[in-house]
Amino acid sequence: MARPKLTPVRSGDRLTLNDRDARPGDDVPSKAKLEKLLEDAAERVADLQKVLYADARYALLVVFQGRDASGKDSAIKNTFRKTNPQGMEVTSFGVPSKLEFKHDFLWRVHHRIPARGFIGVFNRSHYEDVLVPRVNGSITKKEWTARYRQMNDFERMLSENGVVIRKFFLHMSRAEQRVQLQERLEDPEKNWKFRKEDLDDRAKWPAFTAAYRDALRACSTPWAPWYVVPADDKRLRNYLIASTVADTLGRLDLRYPLAPLEIRRMKIR
Ligand code: ATP
Repeated sequence: MARPKLTPVRSGDRLTLNDRDARPGDDVPSKAKLEKLLEDAAERVADLQKVLYADARYALLVVFQGRDASGKDSAIKNTFRKTNPQGMEVTSFGVPSKLEFKHDFLWRVHHRIPARGFIGVFNRSHYEDVLVPRVNGSITKKEWTARYRQMNDFERMLSENGVVIRKFFLHMSRAEQRVQLQERLEDPEKNWKFRKEDLDDRAKWPAFTAAYRDALRACSTPWAPWYVVPADDKRLRNYLIASTVADTLGRLDLRYPLAPLEIRRMKIR
């Protein structure tokens, strides 16, 4: 059986983002097989991160977007379950503070970009700025279209400076979100995660779908591609992300730098 694999979004893609696209297809490996594949992919990520750090020519930025309860936290935890935490940093972006609002929308993002040698993970990102204000009607079409261009330019600049970027949209179905939100209401250990505002966003499902569709198509570029991840099956979701991250690092010709000859000739007495 061929292993499931993600392909980047192209500007001409229809991207219906309907409930069917969120579900696993028919020929998905068994749960046990997916768990093993995920374990191997997470191991590869961890091994390659060591070389990324030693090599220090590139940084990796992994962006996670998705509706409430689509599993961003779990995908991050599992993709990097074996990675040395010292080599990475996760940033969660919430509603901008008063100070952040006074700046351009990329201001708070730029200084969270990983340094060369490191992996940076964004749990939500600058893409919120073409979703939330658009759906709430606080920016115009002209403004959000300009932001697409500004984000593409920003990401191009980063990539030309050694930052490798991969962006994942965790696409869950409306039915699955209901199950997950209900669980947050019922499970005492998940209760704290429930926010009334999540229901407001759920009520605007079609508007968010349209905003996601446009943003993914406008901002999936050769230097910073978007991937739509079917997110209803959590094992498949985590495996698809972890393997894409591992493959990305694997293609970087990473190498451990060779010490100068005089050091290699040294003897410890
Ligand atoms: P989960 O997905 O598990 O529910 P979460 O990512 O929603 O968790 P929270 O801290 O509860 O985590 O929510 C963050 C909130 O901040 C989201 O509603 C998101 O839309 C909002 N947000 C993030 N960035 C922006 C932005 N630039 N403008 C407006 N709202 C934003």
